[in-house]
Amino acid sequence: MRIYISAPAMWFKRSAICLASESTMVGPGTRGSTVLEGRDIAYSYPGATKPVFADINLFTKVDEFIAVVGPTGTGKSTLLRVLAQLIPQAAGKVFLDGVEVTRPSPKISLVHQSIATFPWMTALDNVKLVLAGTGMDEQEAVALCKKMLSVVGLQGFEGYYPKEMSGGMRQRVAIARALAASPEVLLLDEPFVHLDELTANEIRKEVYDLVFNPATTLKSAVLVSHNLHEVVQLADRVYIMNSSPAIIVDIVKIDLPRPRTERDSGFLDCVDELYKGLNLKTAKS
Ligand code: ADP
Ligand code: MG
Repeated sequence: MRIYISAPAMWFKRSAICLASESTMVGPGTRGSTVLEGRDIAYSYPGATKPVFADINLFTKVDEFIAVVGPTGTGKSTLLRVLAQLIPQAAGKVFLDGVEVTRPSPKISLVHQSIATFPWMTALDNVKLVLAGTGMDEQEAVALCKKMLSVVGLQGFEGYYPKEMSGGMRQRVAIARALAASPEVLLLDEPFVHLDELTANEIRKEVYDLVFNPATTLKSAVLVSHNLHEVVQLADRVYIMNSSPAIIVDIVKIDLPRPRTERDSGFLDCVDELYKGLNLKTAKS
């Protein structure tokens, strides 16, 4: 079954539904042009007897937030590293704005699950790290990093050291650093997993807004998460990975109005739909 949905504006009130669809779904319902695309990707770790995943097809459109879910060990983190070209795929290709990407690009920025700040550097210097070697003028670099710290709500904390900041603030620094590279795509590998729920919730909302904030270059985001409530809160489409080697067993479109809360009608139905999808071992035909 192929499902087409009329193109919604970002905050347009959409019907409260989530739709399971086949992995090749591309239609008038998807917004704008393709930003990041992984086509027929496979990856094997050196010395492994079989690939971690194979035949992965995934894309993001402009102003689209997608998520990837799957059991631990299915290869979600590996997939993000391939999409960022930090490791080379065994098969397939990665494209950004229709152009093949074969090496790490500042346009594709990865935020890791562990909060990666250097304790001996201030928040500002931690963010500035990403600009090292770009040749950017010092004043320009400082201005850009300050702007990104302010975008993530850390204005006034530029001179703080990680030990003076909460886990949530440190993760914001990591996100500001990813943004300072002026990426088009933000890849988020379980970025909220070490945060308390209140902080995580606050940063989730910020991260979603960032994708659509004209002060950033971001066009779309890919979130890896185990938290299906978080996924339903944030994602427009969810790729479900399973099996071994892993494949995309299902894609679920989350078509709920934003901003979303668990009290919204249809929210928990979407969570259930994802649970069901996670029990699939093979792709729907
Ligand atoms: P996920 O993020 O979905 O939990 P990962 O991408 O971390 O999964 O790992 C996928 C598989 O690849 C797992 O079986 C894991 O043990 C294996 N793996 C991860 N990193 C390495 C590595 N550096 N060398 C060899 N195998 C690895
Ligand atoms: Mg992982």
